[in-house]
Amino acid sequence: MYPPLSREFPPVFDGHEDFITAIKPRRAIFGPNGGRDFLADGAVSTDSDAERRGHVDLPRAMRGGLGGCFTSIYLSNERAEYNALAYAIDEMNDVFRVADRSDGHFRVCRTAQEVRKAWAEDAFASVFMFEGADPISWSLKELRVFYEAGLRCLAPTWSRSTIFAHGVAFGGNLPATGLTDLGRELVHECNRLGIILDVSHINPAGFWDMIEESSAPIVATHSSVKAVSPHVRNLDDDQIRALANKGGTIGINFANIFLRPDMQANRDTPLDIVLSHFEHIVKLVGDEHVSFGSDFDGTDIPDVIRDAEGLPVILRELKRRGYSEARLERICNGNFLRVAEAVWR
Ligand SMILES: [Zn+2]
Repeated sequence: MYPPLSREFPPVFDGHEDFITAIKPRRAIFGPNGGRDFLADGAVSTDSDAERRGHVDLPRAMRGGLGGCFTSIYLSNERAEYNALAYAIDEMNDVFRVADRSDGHFRVCRTAQEVRKAWAEDAFASVFMFEGADPISWSLKELRVFYEAGLRCLAPTWSRSTIFAHGVAFGGNLPATGLTDLGRELVHECNRLGIILDVSHINPAGFWDMIEESSAPIVATHSSVKAVSPHVRNLDDDQIRALANKGGTIGINFANIFLRPDMQANRDTPLDIVLSHFEHIVKLVGDEHVSFGSDFDGTDIPDVIRDAEGLPVILRELKRRGYSEARLERICNGNFLRVAEAVWR
């Protein structure tokens, strides 16, 4: 049996998790974190970092109050180039098979109502998102089919180029231009179908084109704040205001390089710095536009959080600083579910 979903705080709906890349031996791209079973408990009795495996699995999610997430279908550059469509189907199948084995405790959800029902029944609510529209071709026919399979959030590109948009490069060069004509069509088709658009990873010109083209709220599933850490993947204040005006929300990414003012891959990042990303957005545009976007199993995160069981560490500190239950609920899940209810059909 699995532990019940912790009720210490409202359930967290996390904007971005990469556990799919770690749950099969052949996906062991994160070294010792690879090849584990999402339904098995990765925490061990010694409680040592070295023996805890990865950041998230179902038992640790339940104990940490992590009720669900956008489950990222992420493709390496090689896979995206070789056969993005086949690899995307392969990864989605892996997620469905976790659900099949879970006795109803891990669910692929397609509506906000299904997400809330999962929480009422102590189940994890997984919602498909594509981190890059590489599996979608010019005709957009795949998008329609993936929608039926549960795709409810889409980033037009990862930190590379697609036929739709260009990402911000982690080193190297990518075009600085915005959405292509096909990218504009993709935005309109997502609006029509009811798929949330995600601006994490897109370059600034593409960001502003998406703001202009989309008739629906837009989110940043896993981006942090440039005013705290000047990393190219983070959002500046103008972008944060634009997302807020659009009715969207921003999931704070726990990558040390995106959190720390020195942008170093150093895991001793203090809790205060993590909190300053949340507080900057609250001060700038209010508490209706900030959420979690952990990037669990996709990056190196602060030791003070360590894994899914560390989410209450952040929430306890926000509570200590005077955040009300209603405000915590918006940050934990209300903001993402508000966008979901506005966009999904
Ligand atoms: Zn990412």
